[in-house]
Amino acid sequence: MLEGLSNNLQKALSKLKSKGKLTESDVQEAMREVRLALLAADVNVRIVKQFVDKVRERAIGQDVQKSLTPGQQVVKIVHEELTELMGGSEERLRMAAKPPTVVMLVGLQGAGKTTAAAKLALSFVKHQHRPLMVAADIYRPAAIHQLEVLGGQINVPVFQMGTDVDPVTIATSGIEEARKQGADVVIIDTAGRLHVDAPLMEELARIHQAVPADELLLVIDAMTGQDAVHVAESFSQALPVTGVILTKLDGDTRGGAALTVRAVTGRPIKFVGLGEKIEALEVFHPDRLASRILGMGDVLSLIERAQESVDLEKAREMEQKLRTSQFTLDDFREQLLQVRKLGPLDQVLKMLPGAGKLKGLENLQIDEKRFVRIDAIISSMTTKERADPSVMNASRRRRVAAGSGVTVRDVNQVLNQFEQMQQMMKRFSGFGKKMGKRGAMK
Ligand code: GDP
Ligand code: MG
Repeated sequence: MLEGLSNNLQKALSKLKSKGKLTESDVQEAMREVRLALLAADVNVRIVKQFVDKVRERAIGQDVQKSLTPGQQVVKIVHEELTELMGGSEERLRMAAKPPTVVMLVGLQGAGKTTAAAKLALSFVKHQHRPLMVAADIYRPAAIHQLEVLGGQINVPVFQMGTDVDPVTIATSGIEEARKQGADVVIIDTAGRLHVDAPLMEELARIHQAVPADELLLVIDAMTGQDAVHVAESFSQALPVTGVILTKLDGDTRGGAALTVRAVTGRPIKFVGLGEKIEALEVFHPDRLASRILGMGDVLSLIERAQESVDLEKAREMEQKLRTSQFTLDDFREQLLQVRKLGPLDQVLKMLPGAGKLKGLENLQIDEKRFVRIDAIISSMTTKERADPSVMNASRRRRVAAGSGVTVRDVNQVLNQFEQMQQMMKRFSGFGKKMGKRGAMK
């Protein structure tokens, strides 16, 4: 995610970090590079200028903080200004005082509205709500089917009236249906067009008039860069848009939309789409994305993801074992299972601060086949061996290899990985303590 921007900005700032004192020309030079990095990421020229001017002004006249070097202070200023540019703090959805809360999704065709409807519905379900999705895109019969299929996957009902009924009627009937079913959130999926046009805006305005939405969310495609920003501008001028869902931030987008939308439209990004899967939606946290861009890691998102998919009881148990050095190969196997639940390992590792610089992590890449093999190897060991792998001499290794149908080299590899994991996790728990002292990631 936003790798080019991230690399360029880190490069621009890395020279400053190592210096004891900064001259004005050091800062000027760094700001020139920051400017280029932002332009290359497809950030609006006007926004780039404002951003760089502001950082430069603050960096040159910076108030001295004893705990940071001048270079670190510049990085801190860039972090703060990036966060500010993207909207400051996160913005939650506004819920109706009297249910149902109505969330209406609008945007161009292909932006990801229908997908976002299902993603939001799932997130509402996880937060103990009862959503109903309403299919108000009557121009493509496939659109209704798509919403029904997604609804089926997450067990959320879909209300539809086919393609011959006015979308306004569908929306109002949908709200009635929600009341009847006791649904407390209604998510209205609307039609899009390839380009912004007046009839579409009129239709959306009519729907919104009939069923005033508590949240009118504009869905835009991050991959389209500045086009997405123009689209956002047109929509937010025509409709009372309350927030933005920025989709496809998982692709090789340059990041311009993420950095510019808020400044250009005045509307906050509320969620980001990070993949085609229904789970791939996250609340947008400007400060965390800024941290991620600047290579400071995104530990908070990682922890949140972990809390959703990892068994906390088990994690605590594991931590205890690590502390008391009772971490065994059985635990290793369990740990792999848990890590796999977090998502692709390379993605998970990228969220750790400085993870890119840790050596040896590549070897921890675990694909499905390898996991099965590791599982077989560990199963072929005796209880004693699993509890204390240091007893694994050459003959034991040969026996296990034969028992699990792999080579001795494979067995060695697993034992080495186990050791690496032990070390990584020790580093991890040390890191956790440091974070705790500092309070939060800032
Ligand atoms: P709509 O026309 O606005 O309703 O768009 P759809 O929801 O049908 O999505 C269009 C395409 O974009 C589909 O193939 C989706 O799977 C894909 N898509 C939607 N959101 C994301 C996302 O966050 N990441 C990625 N990679 N693909 C997405
Ligand atoms: Mg759609």
